[in-house]
Amino acid sequence: MMADSEMVAGTAAGTAAGAAEAAGTRAAHRITLIPGDGIGPEVSGAVVEILEAAGRATGVSFDWHRFDAGADSYEKTREYIPKALYESIEANRVALKGPVTTPVGGGFSSINVTLRKKFDLYANFRPVKNLPGLQTKYPGIDLVIVRENTEGLYVGLEQEIVPGVATALKVVTEKGSTRIARFAFEYARKIGRKKIHAIHKANIMKKTDGLFLACAKRVAEEFPEIAYAEHIVDNTCMQLVMNPWQYDVLLTENLYGDILSDLCSGLVGGLGLVPGANLGTECAIFEAVHGSAPDIAGKGLANPTALLQSAVLMLRHIDEMRAADLVQAGIEDVYRAGKTLTRDVGGKAGTMEFKEAVLGAMEAHGAMAAEAVARG
Ligand code: ATP
Repeated sequence: MMADSEMVAGTAAGTAAGAAEAAGTRAAHRITLIPGDGIGPEVSGAVVEILEAAGRATGVSFDWHRFDAGADSYEKTREYIPKALYESIEANRVALKGPVTTPVGGGFSSINVTLRKKFDLYANFRPVKNLPGLQTKYPGIDLVIVRENTEGLYVGLEQEIVPGVATALKVVTEKGSTRIARFAFEYARKIGRKKIHAIHKANIMKKTDGLFLACAKRVAEEFPEIAYAEHIVDNTCMQLVMNPWQYDVLLTENLYGDILSDLCSGLVGGLGLVPGANLGTECAIFEAVHGSAPDIAGKGLANPTALLQSAVLMLRHIDEMRAADLVQAGIEDVYRAGKTLTRDVGGKAGTMEFKEAVLGAMEAHGAMAAEAVARG
């Protein structure tokens, strides 16, 4: 059985690095980097440093193309998403993104949602798994959320009909529902996962969620070796708290996936841990489940693990498995030792100390590998 994270493994073919490799050289991977705001710059700074170190140890180099987005970008360029950022993602096809604040109520539209729609990143892939050594209420969790990323209530079609009455349009299409269901089933088949639950509220939203379910059911028939079930979203919340081990893959429409992602993060230790990938046919943007966490921004307290594990998914996507394994091993060693953890998971360390601990653990792994080679 493959590791889950291998699901996002692509090939370097078609990228600059792939072309250079074919020519016998190793070009730098060109990656668009959006540090984001709130805790974004802190966590992305730590992640870039760790990736650089992993790259040096494994012969991989990165060419980071950095961009602001959201309010920070608007201040400088009068654009919430600068044209150059769009062009960079289009050219590089891979981006690592920190959180960008979306104002509640008025203000600009979500940068996150806009980017997902613009590049048709229809699959939001979020593996939820315990880290070794970290005590949580729920040990042994290993599930994946596959969330439809472009439709549902996120289409942004809201209006005030008359003062005091507002509506939002929920859009579900056969095409969108079928392709996300197919993504989930193909993933399950490739990785060897056994069961998919489609999550819905079709008892109330008979047309929209009804269509989502009908498409999922139709796709399920093509994958008889994978068990298929349907759970209503409110019941799913209760089931996740009572018995999360029953779930393997959760296939959800957009909003339910958002809510269940935070819930599932809580099962394994919180938002500081859980990674994510937004995947389309052309491009991929890797970002943590968490938001900009304004309550701890600028204090050096943020846990970079979620973005770091997102970066591991990215490394697999660009086919840099050794670098990915090294970073993951570094993370797991630090959690196993349990001495340099951030406050959100019960430790006392800040972002920098955690980063240093991961760098140290990776160095120890590198030294062990070199010793093994020397011993033959
Ligand atoms: P959004 O809706 O923008 O995704 P959210 O509602 O998920 O955001 P967050 O900004 O992620 O909210 O923060 C929720 C809580 O989790 C906050 O108390 C925050 O401090 C904590 N949190 C989120 N990310 C981290 C992190 N990387 N390290 C430590 N704590 C975090």
